[in-house]
Amino acid sequence: MNYSKYYPIDVLNGEGTRCALFVSGCIHNCRGCYNQSTWSPDAGELFTDALADQIIKDLNDTRIKKQGLSLSGGDPLHPSNVSDVLKLVKRVKAECIGKDIWLWSGYLLAELTPAQQAIINLVDVFIDGKFEQALAEPNLKWRGSNNQVIHRFK
Ligand code: SF4
Repeated sequence: MNYSKYYPIDVLNGEGTRCALFVSGCIHNCRGCYNQSTWSPDAGELFTDALADQIIKDLNDTRIKKQGLSLSGGDPLHPSNVSDVLKLVKRVKAECIGKDIWLWSGYLLAELTPAQQAIINLVDVFIDGKFEQALAEPNLKWRGSNNQVIHRFK
């Protein structure tokens, strides 16, 4: 898996102070997408075990308390990302007790493959659906267009 950006401190993507990872790879081609540079799975840099270790460390850093991890992109549920994202969310749940996970994807909850669903089973908040320019509203919280749904599982 490649990623385009990692922010150890983020207050824009989800509730509270968070760590945020933007992965590479997206097939949805949404018109008006702000992250076109992340569409290619080869964009950005390789996601390494060292970065996964750093994310776990940042989430557990008590000097700046984090509510959890945000996963966006690109699309964390892109087929080329599923295996590494599953590994990461499993680690967060096992090693960062009490931290939540938010995940944004262009796929719909009802259409997920079993491999994608295995990730969502470990996620606390899932914002699904493509960005639809005709349904875009600047004041929406945590989403860009009205068709996208915030699923809170926990
Ligand atoms: S799903 Fe997100 S990253 Fe992918 S094209 Fe749509 S808006 Fe862009």
